[in-house]
Amino acid sequence: MNKCIPTECRVPGFVGNKQIEFVDKKVPLPGPGELLLQVHANALCGSEKPQFWEGTPVTPGHEAAGIVVAAGSGTHTPAGTPGVVFLMDFCGECRSCRLGFTNQCLQKRGDMGFNRDGGYGQYELIHENIFFPVPEEFSASEATLLLDIMGTGGHSIERCRLMRPDIESLLILGAGPIGLGVLAMAKIILGKQVKVFLTDMVPYRLKLAEQLGGLPINVSKNTILAGLKSHNADAADMAVDTSGKQIAREEGHRALAQRGSLICVGHGEGISLKISPDIIAPERSVVGSEYFRYDELPANLRWLKQHRSYLNQIITHRFGVDEIQKSFELFFGGETGKVIIEQ
Ligand SMILES: [Zn+2]
Ligand SMILES: [Zn+2]
Repeated sequence: MNKCIPTECRVPGFVGNKQIEFVDKKVPLPGPGELLLQVHANALCGSEKPQFWEGTPVTPGHEAAGIVVAAGSGTHTPAGTPGVVFLMDFCGECRSCRLGFTNQCLQKRGDMGFNRDGGYGQYELIHENIFFPVPEEFSASEATLLLDIMGTGGHSIERCRLMRPDIESLLILGAGPIGLGVLAMAKIILGKQVKVFLTDMVPYRLKLAEQLGGLPINVSKNTILAGLKSHNADAADMAVDTSGKQIAREEGHRALAQRGSLICVGHGEGISLKISPDIIAPERSVVGSEYFRYDELPANLRWLKQHRSYLNQIITHRFGVDEIQKSFELFFGGETGKVIIEQ
């Protein structure tokens, strides 16, 4: 064990009621097959709302990038290797994992930052198989783009392609960080010519979406259909919901062309549809998209290299860990892109 690694360190404790207080936690030692990372960046995510509001004994943070500082027996990643952490601690052996569906592991060991200590602490202990090395040329903050932004965003585009080979237009419901990630990955994977409409009520986010090549629809002023019309469209080939709102999903589904699908990425509320006019006659569908597969990371790394400055626009704020309280308040205020804690 490297003697520079302390036995204890101060980590942000999510105590509930939108309060974060620093607490001391033991720094764990890596066991067989495990790596200890020193975390240098962790991005904030909308899915941390319940942790911020209600509190948790776990150290949150599931979009971490850092450097391996200690490696357990049986591992092959040397100390000093930079990389990112895949949220789901998949087993690698079950029927899903064997086929590459590592986001659908049947014997998942945990979810980093949700039921296992995550990336807002100085150190994070992980199984080696969820570590993905990233070349040193990328900063830790940039490396986090590979996770929820490119990973979750790109996977939803793969789900779209599975449902429909000819995508000329895409409607994204919600222009928060995940919605912006879906937009960026649609432009990268499907091509610049694809029309991408984005809905939101926050002008800041719609402006950022427009900067990334999206066609904004302000749903506080317009219906989705009226918004599409303002961009000379009657319908969208596919839709991706990142809002988690029932009203957005239903209105978005109604704005689909024939053969269109609504891909649900945002957790939250439900959806109510009529089977004959909404589903059977137009052959439309509703499909889930959960995080992404570990094996999508290499392609995303190539795209990050190719589209580095374009993707970096999604990161709008960076703070030190001592400003984590302020950064969460700002993030949930809605007027940010991706916010990153650096340490
Ligand atoms: Zn997330
Ligand atoms: Zn598995």
